[in-house]
Order: sequence, then structure tokens, then C-alpha cells
Amino acid sequence: MASPKIAVIGAGISGLSAAQTISRADLSVSVFEKARGPGGRMSSRRERECTIDLGVPCFSARSTEFKRTVERWLSAGIISHWPLSPKRLKNRQIHDYDMQHLRFAGNPRMSAITRYMSQGLNVTTQAHVSAIEYANDQVYLEFENGQRAGPFDHVILALPPKQAFALLPESEQDLKALCSKTAFHPCWNVHAVLNEFPELDWDALYIESGPIGFAEYQSAKPGRENSPAIRLIARPEWSRTHLEKTPDAIAATLWRTFLDRYPDSLPGAIRLKAHRWRYAEPLVERRSPEHHPPSSRHLSVCGDWCLGNNVEAAWLSGRTCARNVLTRLLSN
Ligand SMILES: Cc1cc2nc3c(=O)[nH]c(=O)nc-3n(C[C@H](O)[C@H](O)[C@H](O)COP(=O)(O)OP(=O)(O)OC[C@H]3O[C@@H](n4cnc5c(N)ncnc54)[C@H](O)[C@@H]3O)c2cc1C
Repeated sequence: MASPKIAVIGAGISGLSAAQTISRADLSVSVFEKARGPGGRMSSRRERECTIDLGVPCFSARSTEFKRTVERWLSAGIISHWPLSPKRLKNRQIHDYDMQHLRFAGNPRMSAITRYMSQGLNVTTQAHVSAIEYANDQVYLEFENGQRAGPFDHVILALPPKQAFALLPESEQDLKALCSKTAFHPCWNVHAVLNEFPELDWDALYIESGPIGFAEYQSAKPGRENSPAIRLIARPEWSRTHLEKTPDAIAATLWRTFLDRYPDSLPGAIRLKAHRWRYAEPLVERRSPEHHPPSSRHLSVCGDWCLGNNVEAAWLSGRTCARNVLTRLLSN
């Protein structure tokens, strides 16, 4: 029998972790990503003056497997410890904040991690999958631009569940039911490029109440020191209520709210920009890899939502899903 061919839809950390696991088993794997680069919720954007992290600001590692990978990333210089001086903002006062877990950030930007993971993999970007079809017991992918890829023996959908649901064929009722069960919080975030460097004694600020849950001084992160920028991450409930507002209105409201609650004056913002995540954080409890959703004959799902709600869950899910697929394909 010819060696099985596998496709992964989505080049977020879960899709890349799945593809790395399959590639290390010497099987052919092709990754298709709709955006211009890999990253998903770990992506960053180049602005005129600086680079901005658009999704996850930092992450932690708890499991032995992920800790080992994080050690390798630290040695390769693509992540650093961060935040170093987190604080808490309550009643217009800044207090010390005790971090329970060591946290990390991509270096020089969050997307450095997914770029690094993509090395040596066959990743096609700007490839928006619009349908999955079966023919002769194999799977084909259709793209928005009318092109087609395949045949594949197995396809992994490394996507938030709503996006996976839309692509799953009607015959995949179990996977569709699984995807329809998981809800996601949306999230607005705003970054402000300032006209001069502020004097701050924090690099991350946990905000006790109000529309904003977290602020990060992006310029304190490694590789982003060239211009002063602060990013605000709105609370899920507030983001949901204001989901359909315009980015300009969101940027103005959240920045004004931050200035009202912040105890000191800050330099003026020369540019404010808002980014909306419709699917930011899954509403699920952390699960161990033995409880990963099962695959069907030709299709599997993975992503943070399959094992939890963070970067570590996404990485573990991709790896677990790929291992399950390899076991199934190689035992046939
Ligand atoms: C604002 C914010 C704050 C966060 N804070 C934290 C935190 O503090 N700590 C933490 O650990 N985690 C945090 N997270 C969560 C973390 O970013 C995610 O858990 C993780 O990045 C999810 O990776 P994933 O691969 O499962 O999904 P994603 O990163 O969403 O990847 C899915 C990919 O699929 C692509 N795609 C979608 N549809 C198609 C299609 N039809 N065809 C081709 N490609 C497609 C998308 O473009 C995307 O690249 C945060 C996320 C956000 C947005």
C-alpha cells in the first residue's frame, strides 16, 4: 500500500503541532492556511513603527511534554520569559501581583513560534478551504479560489469548532455534534502607539474591573523595543456586547477608559487600532489527552478547545490528534 497522505487545515499552533508529529513519522503532510502567514491566534502584525502581537500576549507550560518543548524554544531563542514585572490595577492604584506560573512570549514577536514550527513543513498560505469532499474512499479539499487539492487519506481540521462545523460534510454527524457543543468568547483588543516612551514600572497589568481585563506594555517585550506601544485586551462580556461596533469606536472607547482608570498621565497616542477576534477563548475545562475527541475514518478535529482554552492545550491537542491518526492509518 502507498504511504498515507494527510492534510491539515489551519496553521495555528495546533495544526502545526499535528503536522510536525506526522512529518516526524515520515508521512506526507500538507498544511493549508487561509491567512498570509501561519499563527492564527498567535499572530503578530507589522505596523509602521513596530510589531504588535494581535492574539495571545503570553503563555505558560504545565505538562512535562510541553515544558520540554518550551525549553527547546528557549534554547533556540524564539521565546523569552515574560512578563517580568506584572502588576494589578485596582481603584486607580497599581499593586504588586504574584504570578503563579512562569510565562513566556515569542521573541521578537509571538508569531516567531509558529514560523519556527513551520520550518521544514509543507505549508500553503492564502489557501482558504471552502469544502471537503469524498470520492473513491479518499478526501479532496476545495478552495475559495476554485482550486482543489487531494486525494488525501485523512484530513485534520485544526480550527475553532464553528469554522470546523461549516466544513464538515453532512455525513460526519458525530464530529458536527461535537463542534456544535463548544462555545467561544470573542475578544476586542486595542493597541496604542504613543508619541514618546512612558515611564512604567510594569510590563503587564491585570485590571480588576471594567471593560478591560489586561494591558501589556508591548515595548517591554523582547524585540519590540523600537517604539512605545500599549495593548489593551477587553473582557469577554464587554467584547460580546460591543462585537458589532466599528474598530474606530472600540479603539477610542477602550483607550479613554484606560486613561480614566490609570493613576498617572501617559503620553498621547499617535495611533489607535482595534482588532476583533470572534473566536478568542473556548468555554471549556482543561482535559487530559486521553479524553481527546476521537476521529472518524477520514476526518479529525483538533485545537485548544479539544483539551482546554490556551496555547498549551492547542499544542497538546495537535500532537494527540496526530498520534491517534497515525495509529489508525498505520494499523490498517
Ligand atoms: C486576545 C487573546 C488572548 C489570549 N490569551 C491567552 C493567554 O493568556 N494564554 C494562553 O495560553 N492562550 C491565550 N489565548 C489563546 C491562544 O491564543 C489559543 O489557545 C491558541 O493560539 C489556539 O491555537 P489553535 O491552533 O487551536 O487555533 P487558531 O490559532 O485559531 O488556528 C486556526 C487557524 O485556522 C485558520 N483557518 C480558519 N478557517 C480556515 C479555512 N477555512 N481554511 C484555511 N485555514 C483556516 C485560521 O486562519 C487560523 O490560522 C488568547 C487568545 C486571544 C485571541
